Amino acid sequence: MTWLTRTPGGIDVERRPYGVANCGRTWTVPGAAPRVTLHTTESRRGSIDAVLNLWDQAERNGTLTVPHFTIDAGPRRIVQHRDMLGPACALEGCGDGRASTNGVPNVQVEICGYATESPGWSDDDLAFIGDWLAAVRAGGFDVPLASPVTFYSDRNAPYVLASYSSPNRIGAAAWYGTAGVIGHQHVPCNAHWDPGGVNVGRILYHAALALGGPTNGKELTVADIKIITDQIAALSAQVAQMQSTLGGWMQGERIYDGLVPVKTADDPRQFLVVIVPGKGYARVHLTGEAKGVLQKQQTIQAGVGGFDGGHPVDFVTLTDPAQVAWFKSLPVL
Ligand SMILES: [Zn+2]
Repeated sequence: MTWLTRTPGGIDVERRPYGVANCGRTWTVPGAAPRVTLHTTESRRGSIDAVLNLWDQAERNGTLTVPHFTIDAGPRRIVQHRDMLGPACALEGCGDGRASTNGVPNVQVEICGYATESPGWSDDDLAFIGDWLAAVRAGGFDVPLASPVTFYSDRNAPYVLASYSSPNRIGAAAWYGTAGVIGHQHVPCNAHWDPGGVNVGRILYHAALALGGPTNGKELTVADIKIITDQIAALSAQVAQMQSTLGGWMQGERIYDGLVPVKTADDPRQFLVVIVPGKGYARVHLTGEAKGVLQKQQTIQAGVGGFDGGHPVDFVTLTDPAQVAWFKSLPVL
């Protein structure tokens, strides 16, 4: 029996077990891959009390189709109704025996909100859901922090989602092997399209963070990769900033700091050697006008070429054949 008490983010998990469960006490296909199915209650964020009243009423009527959890990002409440390592009953069954929908390891959560609005859920709310997901994983349900499916909203779906034959549904043959986070809209033999186009990538990202790190030591998940690519992007931005100092030019023994106009003996044009982030060295043709502006800004150095008849020479003429060849090989921007 697994009942959660507290999430990694510090939210206490309330316990409200229900007596009626028409989907049995144990998984019928326990060897199937672990997955989590997201639902939306189709009531507003903050409506958890009304939703729980509805479950109570259904329990009294004997018609309760209960999920494992009902959660609400408004009051930040998480309520557990069923043993996490056994079935919940919020999915329609296949009837014809093609596949068991509730009988596979499948932790189901009803999130208070509307499927039409889920693409706009705030990152704070997605972090709350990620924290819940992290608690489920930490509680012993070994769902990978990944999603094998596309969460469509009613705004961008290429076809009707709320249909038994929606192409977005996982086929009965693939169902037992499906691991990770999915939505009601992906479940075979069902017609609902909740939870809509929720940003599952952010939920996974926050779940990985809540579990204390980007990797689980075994495999990279979608969330891991998201975290790593974010870190690389931040590093690249830093490097680009460092490299935007024009003219940081180094080749062989010669190092010029700052902007140094450079030319060759056989070409009257002067160039600045620059580093283009991600591409490498290039040269920029320096017109007389541009050079004047840069000199006034004291962006380019004067006198770097020594003195000629008492006048500072503010460019360098390359003479070393290897340097000349390298210089000429650079693309001109
Ligand atoms: Zn649903």
